[in-house]
Amino acid sequence: MFTKILIANRGEIAVRIIRACREMGILTVTVFSEADRDSMHVSLADEAYCIGPPQIKDSYLNMSAIITVAAATGAQAIHPGYGLLAENAKFAALCEQCGIVFIGPRSQTIKELGDKNAARGIMVKAGVPVVPGWDLIHDLTDAEKAAKKLGYPLLIKARAGGGGRGIRLVSSPSELEKSFLSACAEAKSAFGDGSVYMEKFLSPVKHIEMQMLCDTEGNAVCLGERECSIQRKSQKLIEESPSPSISQTLREQMQEAAIKAVKAVNYTGVGTVEFLLDQDKNFYFIEMNTRLQVEHPVTEMVTDVDLVKWQIRVAAGVPLAGFDNYAIKGHAIECRINAENPFAGFRASSGRITNLHIPGGAFVRFDTAIYQNCVISPYYDSMIGKLIVYAGTREEAIRKMRTALCELIIEGVDHNIELHLEILSDPLFVSGDYTTDFIEKSDILRKKVKVGELC
Ligand code: ADP
Ligand code: ADP
Ligand code: MG
Repeated sequence: MFTKILIANRGEIAVRIIRACREMGILTVTVFSEADRDSMHVSLADEAYCIGPPQIKDSYLNMSAIITVAAATGAQAIHPGYGLLAENAKFAALCEQCGIVFIGPRSQTIKELGDKNAARGIMVKAGVPVVPGWDLIHDLTDAEKAAKKLGYPLLIKARAGGGGRGIRLVSSPSELEKSFLSACAEAKSAFGDGSVYMEKFLSPVKHIEMQMLCDTEGNAVCLGERECSIQRKSQKLIEESPSPSISQTLREQMQEAAIKAVKAVNYTGVGTVEFLLDQDKNFYFIEMNTRLQVEHPVTEMVTDVDLVKWQIRVAAGVPLAGFDNYAIKGHAIECRINAENPFAGFRASSGRITNLHIPGGAFVRFDTAIYQNCVISPYYDSMIGKLIVYAGTREEAIRKMRTALCELIIEGVDHNIELHLEILSDPLFVSGDYTTDFIEKSDILRKKVKVGELC
């Protein structure tokens, strides 16, 4: 087992990984930007080193600085968290070349699956159903040809996409040119790769994903699904497990497809196979995320498996054990707490947290790196915490989440606690039949209310 790990991330996920390491008796090294000097991940780690200015490209994405710190401190492995360098095949390859274990799949696997268009091809070959789509679109003529074949509405997606960026919905031929150009431009600026492909836009659909865990000896388990259909701007907001709307038979079919997907690429480590599920209960692969997922805690709560610890173990060559008879029990829900104003186009908010109260009680978990008086910086992702609850049934979990949200107090920055409370009391959410267009279709964003009125 490793004795020292470098964590190449910040915020709640860096804290989450430090905790797992400490519990495993592993020393931790963190890196930080000048804006993060007073951050929780810096104070909790055994060692911390400043690697550059606030902009992520100059610090958290500075590969050579991170590798240098790992080598100088004797860290045997690097945990990339999610976002930042987590799905960067070049960084994983650099670690491999330097004899440092990258806690994730092999660089080759990240490369294969990180090309979302090529990944679709791999899945077709493996017998996994994919959304009807079209190969890379090089120019407007290509786009017109593909659109004619696929029909409207359709989606233009970035080949290197992530975090909901580089995606454009095209409803009619008149929008095609503008959407194509803006998708390419956004993809180029966000991912350094302007290539795009096309998919049929399926609606209404549910987003259901499978949590996978694979060791280096070829063993693979699926730790159930997460339903992530409550989204804003193609980014998840609320996740739950198990999904309220799939039968055991369908669950097993999706698990089987997800196992085929990971076997097709000899996957190692934790990863997530994302599917869309239509009204006729047909499911389609959209992408595989080759990393720990933001919403991994909901799976941890219903399986009793610490995913970060297992991720570290399999990276160290430990084979999977104890998963033969594992069972999914109860129900877990996660609400992503973002520093943003949902009622003003989800505009990100920054500033000092002047008052903070974190809820507690049995089976209530708040993964965060914020504390009273800390400053939310404008340089980074707006997600400042994840509130997760666990209960025996979905009804009880919803009530528990509402209770916890009412207790959660964050003052000094805008946040989305009211929005979560509204969603949780919406009859469509409660029914479990909601789809990815839930927020867009509901009138929640038009009737701004105060937390006090909701609790
Ligand atoms: P998840 O399903 O885990 O939420 P997301 O695609 O929403 O996955 O991304 C997780 C986090 O990583 C988000 O906070 C997002 O902003 C960030 N992220 C995702 N992809 C990228 C990327 N290519 N570059 C930078 N950050 C990313
Ligand atoms: P990212 O890499 O940014 O996470 P995804 O391909 O996973 O991008 O898509 C993000 C979200 O966009 C999905 O969770 C889903 O809500 C929506 N989406 C993606 N593809 C389709 C599609 N073909 N039809 C309908 N919705 C889609
Ligand atoms: Mg996705």
